Amino acid sequence: MTERIYNFSAGPAALPLPVLEQAQQDLISLGDTGIGVLEHSHRSKAFLAVYEEAEALVRELASIPENYKVLFLQGGASSQFFMIPMNLLKKDQTADYLVTGSWSKKAVKEAKSFGNVNVACSSEDKNFSYIPEEVSLSENPAYVHFTSNNTIYGTEFATEPTVPAGVPLICDASSDIFSRPLDISKYGIVYAGAQKNLGPSGVTLVIIRDDLIEQGPTDIPTMLQYRTHSEAGSMYNTPPTFGIYVLGQVLRWLKEQGGLAAIQEKNQSKAGKLYGYLEQSKLFNATAAKQDRSLMNVTFVTGDADLDAQFIAKATAAGLDGLKGHRSVGGMRASIYNAFPEAGVDKLLEMMNQFEQEHAS
Ligand SMILES: *Cc1c(COP(=O)(O)O)cnc(C)c1O
Repeated sequence: MTERIYNFSAGPAALPLPVLEQAQQDLISLGDTGIGVLEHSHRSKAFLAVYEEAEALVRELASIPENYKVLFLQGGASSQFFMIPMNLLKKDQTADYLVTGSWSKKAVKEAKSFGNVNVACSSEDKNFSYIPEEVSLSENPAYVHFTSNNTIYGTEFATEPTVPAGVPLICDASSDIFSRPLDISKYGIVYAGAQKNLGPSGVTLVIIRDDLIEQGPTDIPTMLQYRTHSEAGSMYNTPPTFGIYVLGQVLRWLKEQGGLAAIQEKNQSKAGKLYGYLEQSKLFNATAAKQDRSLMNVTFVTGDADLDAQFIAKATAAGLDGLKGHRSVGGMRASIYNAFPEAGVDKLLEMMNQFEQEHAS
């Protein structure tokens, strides 16, 4: 079998090897059922056990209060960009958006079809390289939406923004969900496409407070109402069974790692090594403002596009894949989500050091 290499991809991204090995077995026969996980009816006893375990692990790891539902939906985080305003924003209302990257901008674009949008802050003036400190909320917003980690730009909110009592806070946590502890009770909705920190693409985790589920109109398509999925336990139609299965396995692995506080320490250690190196490097520079740097996506440049390309080529040849930065930032991006091993970070540091010695003048 081909040896596995270090995969710095921003998403879909590296998964824990024990999860892949378990999935390999369960593809042929889930437990002792004699039927593979891809082939089980979503209503079968065996799959219901998979589903219930995945949901229970989401609840346990994030200490989710009773008055929240855990939904497994399809259409990616991008479908939440419209599903949220479709259900929660009326034509004459205003929703506030903190614009800290292209994903936030896409969310704004969708919301504008349903009501008014107030851009409460934006860091676009400096190519989204920081998180604004000043946020100006509107008078009485239907909700406040933010993106906790900006995958492309390598910035992350240190803590959630504060909102007035009674205003639902909604978070696109696609690229940092469960990378650190979070207090769900501060949120109305937290959602995430699974393919960065939770599992494969094709399943979107939505954690939603009960009172928001019932607010939506009933004359929009059934599949686009939160109540439909809440009432049917995400089984109104066939749910993404394999995605839910893998997500459950990933959360099992995460629990074995010690849960959210323990994984946060590991993430701090991994990112800390890279930022520490970048701080003193004479060749490489981090692109994100120091106080806003992401633990998940570390973005850096040499300042010379040709050198960047040379470095990426060298790293790729050495088995470090996926380091090319997003085109809107350039340079390099090391995506080091929960499942990315610290040994891969060490290998990258070794490469950077070596490259710096060869090229620093
Ligand atoms: C990747 C990403 C998305 C898009 O997710 P899809 O599941 O592909 O729709 C949205 N928001 C953030 C922050 C992301 O990193």
